[in-house]
Amino acid sequence: MPTVADTAGRPLRSLRISVTDRCNLRCAYCMPEEHYVWLPRRDILGFEEIATLVDCFIACGVDRVRLTGGEPLLRHDLPTLVRLLADKPALRDLALTTNGILLAEHAAALRAAGLHRLTVSLDTLRPDRFRALTRRDGLAQVCDGIRAADAAGFRPLKIDTVAMRGVNDDELADLIEFARPFGAEVRFIEYMDVGGATAWSPDKVLSRDAILADLTARYGAIEALREETSAPADRYRLPDGTVFGIIASTTVPFCSTCDRARLTADGMWYLCLYARLGTDLRAALRGGASRETLVDLIAARWGRRDDRGAEERLQERDRRALVPAAALRDDPHLEMHTRGG
Ligand code: SAM
Repeated sequence: MPTVADTAGRPLRSLRISVTDRCNLRCAYCMPEEHYVWLPRRDILGFEEIATLVDCFIACGVDRVRLTGGEPLLRHDLPTLVRLLADKPALRDLALTTNGILLAEHAAALRAAGLHRLTVSLDTLRPDRFRALTRRDGLAQVCDGIRAADAAGFRPLKIDTVAMRGVNDDELADLIEFARPFGAEVRFIEYMDVGGATAWSPDKVLSRDAILADLTARYGAIEALREETSAPADRYRLPDGTVFGIIASTTVPFCSTCDRARLTADGMWYLCLYARLGTDLRAALRGGASRETLVDLIAARWGRRDDRGAEERLQERDRRALVPAAALRDDPHLEMHTRGG
């Protein structure tokens, strides 16, 4: 497959597609405000439009797609999109990230439609904490969803946990134990100062080092697995063989190997989670651009890419929330729940 490379020689390999900006949770680190500006429905890409754009990205080297949101399972008839994408032999990885609330009803249909892999976000095993963190009830539904995903044959399942100091830093081992019977791999994500994280501050970040220290105290010596990959997670093995991951995007950014881009539900294409500006692929698509024109547009834009958003954030002296709430209301595309995680 032809590959385009950016100014730092990074290939375009991975595309995250937000299929909706709507969410049925209000996680404090992602959607802490009271009111949101939603993308107009007429602007939301249809499944055929998404499939056409994916073909163009494949022509530029993409071979991994992750469906996300917002909450992707809120998108009506999602298995139909999964089937359209699963039929593309060039996609060697087709994954989905969900909060799990609706997963019990959809896991089997997603599997039947050809979805390869599933990641469920889960930050706490305590119902009261879940309610405080997400401002909704639903822990039991998420756990049912994880069981349904396991029963549907999604293996290995991944469980993503945003690790936050003073919030859930006393549950790291509990989450590993919870995941064990499902053979699921927990990945701890450092709290990131992305758009939407308006209450972010450095003292709330539980660093990779702190996570490792906590788990070493509980389990004993932890072995770092040596892997040559562009995957964001560093993987580790506990003395009993259990593997877990840490995504240290805040304290140890991986910009130098970042090969991923993001498409919003309304067709804006961003080259970095921290990017302020994107490329409007919906306008080009609905304006009648041919497939060749779209491929040229994507290849040319990626070729000029010089983003190193997370590394630049690391240089900030007085680091605080990336975007104030008022600016997020002016441009909802800056929100994490719009551009997808
Ligand atoms: N609704 C789906 C879910 O909850 O998995 C998909 C979208 S959500 C934006 C994707 C991932 O981004 C979740 O695992 C969430 O925890 C993560 N995320 C959101 N805000 C974050 C932040 N400030 N720092 C780190 N991870 C964040």
